[in-house]
Amino acid sequence: MTDTDTQDDAYRQRMATKKRIVDERIANATEQRGVLILMKGNGKGKSSSAFGTMARSLGHGHRAAVIQFIKGRKATGEYLFFKDHPQVEFHVMGHGFTWETQDADKDRQAALEAWTLAERYLQDERVNFLLFDELSYMIKYGHLEAERVARAIAARPRHQNVIVTGRTMARELQDCADTISIINDERHAFRQGVKAQPGIEY
Ligand code: ATP
Ligand code: MG
Repeated sequence: MTDTDTQDDAYRQRMATKKRIVDERIANATEQRGVLILMKGNGKGKSSSAFGTMARSLGHGHRAAVIQFIKGRKATGEYLFFKDHPQVEFHVMGHGFTWETQDADKDRQAALEAWTLAERYLQDERVNFLLFDELSYMIKYGHLEAERVARAIAARPRHQNVIVTGRTMARELQDCADTISIINDERHAFRQGVKAQPGIEY
């Protein structure tokens, strides 16, 4: 037997073991229901991951709704791309919470209106996928009660998938989440002086 044969044999055995473990896990995951996914952390990739997952869902013919809880000054690429998609209802929070408004009453009212709309979607059986982008800021700044948000999400139709993005997540939301991913900030071009660009940042 050559060295290559021995290596091939060891590789085959390793793969066979791996396959056995993976097959066992697949056999154990039998439940069929929607999930709550939280994308949190200080790195870049939360919203883009959420929109990527929405594209995946749309590819399967699902219906989706997006509510963006923070409105920037510029229209984002995701808005321009998805706003006219026949399976997507895309909302950007009315008054537009930005770092520049600094009007707590207006921000709170806008957050409440947007969340009331979210609650309607959370009762709509026909919508398979919900994306609440930057929702966590509304809770962090006290514009929305974490308990109210968690209650509505927990009571949604069983098949509905929900993704929430934001740097930090309230405990109440984490308690009812199925999947939580943390995007870490290891490096960002902005700190090297690279200007935010369309197609990458917005
Ligand atoms: P993206 O939309 O690119 O997936 P995100 O949703 O993870 O980013 P947010 O906190 O929503 O991040 O910030 C949105 C904007 O800020 C994007 O333009 C993104 O490139 C930028 N950004 C994200 N993280 C950082 C960071 N650590 N330093 C500087 N800019 C960042
Ligand atoms: Mg984001």
